[in-house]
Amino acid sequence: MSASTSFTITKIELCSLDLPITDPFVVATGQLQVAHNAFVRLTLHDGTVGYGEIAPFPAITGENRESSLKKARILGRHLLGQSTLYYQRLGHELSELAPDAPAARCGLETALLDALTRAIHVPLWALWGGADVRARETDITIPIASLARTRELARQWYERGFRLFKIKVGHDVDEDVRRAEALHRHCAGVAFVIDSNQGYTREEAATLIKGVNRFGGTLLLLEQPLAKDDLEGHAKLRRDFRVAVAADESAQSLHDLQSVIRHEAADFVNIKITKSGLLEGILMVTVAKAAGLGVMLGGMVETRVAMGCSYSLAMGLGGRPVLDLDTPLLMETDPIDGGYTYEGPRLQPWHGPGLGLAIPSFQAATSDHL
Ligand SMILES: [Mg+2]
Repeated sequence: MSASTSFTITKIELCSLDLPITDPFVVATGQLQVAHNAFVRLTLHDGTVGYGEIAPFPAITGENRESSLKKARILGRHLLGQSTLYYQRLGHELSELAPDAPAARCGLETALLDALTRAIHVPLWALWGGADVRARETDITIPIASLARTRELARQWYERGFRLFKIKVGHDVDEDVRRAEALHRHCAGVAFVIDSNQGYTREEAATLIKGVNRFGGTLLLLEQPLAKDDLEGHAKLRRDFRVAVAADESAQSLHDLQSVIRHEAADFVNIKITKSGLLEGILMVTVAKAAGLGVMLGGMVETRVAMGCSYSLAMGLGGRPVLDLDTPLLMETDPIDGGYTYEGPRLQPWHGPGLGLAIPSFQAATSDHL
């Protein structure tokens, strides 16, 4: 067996897992009570395995598990017999074959690179350069909920040490201001990311900003306040209110991001590997930095598999991104062994090969051998 033969992909398995969420994950465009995710296990010729996660959020990207698995089977067949050493080329081919299935591509790309870095015995973050390997603080998400529930959730997370709160808004701007104000009053020293998932008109976004200014809240970022195509509106909010805007739905791909930059529509971009695919996400980080934009690394409703991969980007590429990597904390159970861990709001690095984790229940669930 030649040295490179050991990197050949010999098996790809897919497995569905339902992951109940503690509080319904309600955003302006829809909600999730159970994350219907799927996992990829990819095996190399030498027996090394790699894992990846497919975490579609139907209300945000229009993908669901069924459509993603269908695409993952087609893309998986394309990968069989190929070598992980050519991962850039393979990622490019996956994008050409399935431009509209980023969640499936993300799962396969993550598994490809987890397997490669396990085979060469280095952590995944080393592949990106190991620029800044250390513990890092994430925000915590408060979904759209009643004022009382918002207060209760905020208190619980605050007691656990969280100081950056991502508040989901977009159903009723006056209630949104009241919820943010309640957090500000009850939790000293917190800062906000306020994410309306395209839920506001320009006027409502202005009302929100003025409301937060009135009670003296620290608004770190206003995320995707307006419809994704309203780049002019986002640029105007930045100019009129000197508020830092983060593009999320407006920047689903590299092409989108270039448009956001041209329109001066954002100060930050929220990069999610499930939204753009992993390799395209890395390109987006590079392009955002080159354009002088701040980077936020976030995710859909993901376990520590996909979030571990995003954390590896923070550690590997450096540049102090804002981390929005909290969704494993919102789930009732954690199906993952190993990997990074949480100490309060801080993610702690791992030092073993690849993502350093396993999914013990992978066997038990229905799986597909390609
Ligand atoms: Mg968002």
